[in-house]
Amino acid sequence: MGKVPTTETKRDYYEILGVDRSATRDQLKQAYRQLALKYHPDRSKDPDATAKFREIAEAYAVLSDDAKRHEYDATGHAGVSERWSAEDLMRDFQFGDFFGGRFGDLSGAFGDFFGQRTRPRSGVSRGVDLRYDLDLTLEEAAKGGEREIPITRSEKCAPCAGSGAKPGTKPKPCSDCAGTGQTQHAKTSKGMRMVTLTTCSRCHGRGQLIEAPCTTCQGNGYEFVTHRLKVQIPPGVDDGMMVRLARQGEPNANGGSPGDLLIRPHLRPHSSFDRHGDDLYMVKKVTFPEAALGTEISVMGLGGEALRVTVPAGTQSGTALRLSGKGMPRLGGKGKGDLFVVTEVRTPTDLTPRQRKLLEEFTNAEAERPKEG
Ligand SMILES: [Zn+2]
Ligand SMILES: [Zn+2]
Repeated sequence: MGKVPTTETKRDYYEILGVDRSATRDQLKQAYRQLALKYHPDRSKDPDATAKFREIAEAYAVLSDDAKRHEYDATGHAGVSERWSAEDLMRDFQFGDFFGGRFGDLSGAFGDFFGQRTRPRSGVSRGVDLRYDLDLTLEEAAKGGEREIPITRSEKCAPCAGSGAKPGTKPKPCSDCAGTGQTQHAKTSKGMRMVTLTTCSRCHGRGQLIEAPCTTCQGNGYEFVTHRLKVQIPPGVDDGMMVRLARQGEPNANGGSPGDLLIRPHLRPHSSFDRHGDDLYMVKKVTFPEAALGTEISVMGLGGEALRVTVPAGTQSGTALRLSGKGMPRLGGKGKGDLFVVTEVRTPTDLTPRQRKLLEEFTNAEAERPKEG
């Protein structure tokens, strides 16, 4: 049986990505992109590319997710592997799918939907899925609608048609390895001739040498192109959900379809409203007499509309008064959640002499109340 890698033998995620522990989301993304392109098994001839790519992607999968990063920072690999299965950690990355592929049709129709995080492994080659973190205010999440987002993808370099060689020139077969990308080393040991194949050190296994690199792509054969994509945000979207745009991810070089673009919304905290699922909560201060005698107050809903709330006589501090259907829209157009106005009864602190007198009278009247039982 093969040795199962334990959490102790795993490398530190920050070290893998070569970033600081304080790295921002953007710095992580940047580091991940660079490493992922370097070790992308479609491009890299490094024999360990696949393993390295997995390692990089796992590190990014954990550190780019706030909850998982927090757990990792607090407890390391052990805590993360306790809370999430390998499948959970990696489900956005679709490893099995991206070998092969081609620089395919980028204008494919959008297909937005939620909750579908895994797809059946079809065996068909696909490009790599890209992720985009979309910051939204609570109002934007409630309204939904169209957003334009910049997506940077690597695409075949146009001037050199992906060859990496300066236009007008061609890559030449490597003379050290005769274009095979491997060199043979033979030795005789105990009468046996042993031949080992190693990656050609001159062409790094490519089998080709570029004498004059393309100046547009510096010989990589690909370049980064930023597209502005229009995305439909469904009203009611929440943290932890994902919008998947089919075929809007990285193209793939060898004949499969492009990967998907996964858009993950991140809701900014709101100054007045707390969200719990489809319901909203807000705190409203009422005076002690208002709470005791009952009143009608006005609050502003998330859309800026004035809402009337009846505070019944004898309301305690911390009572949640429900306004039906004034919360967040439910996904799929199934109505709305509720808005809860939570009362905070204010105790007066700067009493006038007359108020003080009235309250003292109130206390005396309370003492005169006939005792029950
Ligand atoms: Zn060579
Ligand atoms: Zn080029």
